Amino acid sequence: MTLTGGCLCGALRFEIDGPVRMRGLCLCRTCQKVSGGAGNLFVGLEAAAFRYTRGEPRRFARADASDAPAREFCAECGVHVASRSPKAPGGLIVKVGALDDPGAFGKADMVFWTQEKQAFHHLPEDATIFERLPGR
Ligand SMILES: [Zn+2]
Ligand SMILES: [Zn+2]
Repeated sequence: MTLTGGCLCGALRFEIDGPVRMRGLCLCRTCQKVSGGAGNLFVGLEAAAFRYTRGEPRRFARADASDAPAREFCAECGVHVASRSPKAPGGLIVKVGALDDPGAFGKADMVFWTQEKQAFHHLPEDATIFERLPGR
């Protein structure tokens, strides 16, 4: 599967050439802050299937947790396109909204962090639900 995408201004472009391993929705408070409140929709991939074809992202990780995921975003327009976590080496997640064709996502099969869910969040049907991250 080949998917392309980028940030809002076009300074950052990427290509995915490989299978999507996970279609997810995260409702944690951090994702609420990053997304505007709705949570983050993302595809999970092997990092080797992902490459930037234009530009280099800025990276941010919380300094108060050594295993915090690093968010990758455009230094020009600020749009977040991907995240990598030290807890999942060799993998990364890409934000669905950054894809050129977000419709290719289909729907979330897995939902994370419902423990921090708000009353206005709706869970997709037939998804596997996790109160937090599995294994924590
Ligand atoms: Zn940009
Ligand atoms: Zn989250």
